[in-house]
Amino acid sequence: MSGGVFSALDGVGLNLQAVFELDRLPGAMRSCLGASSGGLHGYRQLILIGNAGPALWAAVKAAGLAGSDPIDDFSLHAVHTWFAEQFGKAPRLTLYPGDAPLDLQGLGQLAGWHHPSPFKVGINQDWGSWFAYRVALLADTALPVTEARHSPSPCQGCAGKPCIMACPAAAMSDGDFDLERCIAYRRTPASRCAAGCVARIACPVGTQHRYDDEQIRHGYSNSLKMIERYRAAPHAGAARHQN
Ligand code: SF4
Ligand code: SF4
Repeated sequence: MSGGVFSALDGVGLNLQAVFELDRLPGAMRSCLGASSGGLHGYRQLILIGNAGPALWAAVKAAGLAGSDPIDDFSLHAVHTWFAEQFGKAPRLTLYPGDAPLDLQGLGQLAGWHHPSPFKVGINQDWGSWFAYRVALLADTALPVTEARHSPSPCQGCAGKPCIMACPAAAMSDGDFDLERCIAYRRTPASRCAAGCVARIACPVGTQHRYDDEQIRHGYSNSLKMIERYRAAPHAGAARHQN
């Protein structure tokens, strides 16, 4: 987390920020960004904003937003308001939320936020899996570049791996994550994972930052609705990554 230039975002729970110099991103990521944004000309940096813990949801609720995706709506409004206050009319382009392909977990790895967990949601020592990517911007800014965090994956030394044991679909018991098995279970009438992930809740890391029950229900119910929509009309768009 950082204060100073990002303090307005910290104050509403958008408390993870990472600034990347576009010139220093891996070549494949730069090419993909260039293709999906119509070219990187005119931008110097990529700004990635996330949240850790339940503070963002509390701010969203306090704002009283309705709509089907109040977290996206709130986060975009907060980030664009912050950007205009800090940088006026400096060029910016929103990459996420949006339909453009963007390797959020790759960026999270570069920032040191993300290690893969058995259930494929990112994890780290400090927040467990209770963090998420909210907004990514290309910007013509000269912010100090964020130093990557360095911490080992908590999964490396996790005795017994309770997440794997807890999954009612045994979706991780073959040594990899079986997405189809997870989805098939989630869609059953008696599923315990329609509005949450039992494995994620079973993880003992970062539990002090766990989202509140209402946010967990909101996120997982939405992702299940998207899965159902996608299954009904597979060409209408893929389900977004759950975080
Ligand atoms: S329970 Fe252990 S293996 Fe599973 S996500 Fe948490 S730290 Fe990693
Ligand atoms: S959502 Fe349920 S079925 Fe899927 S990985 Fe989590 S615990 Fe397993």
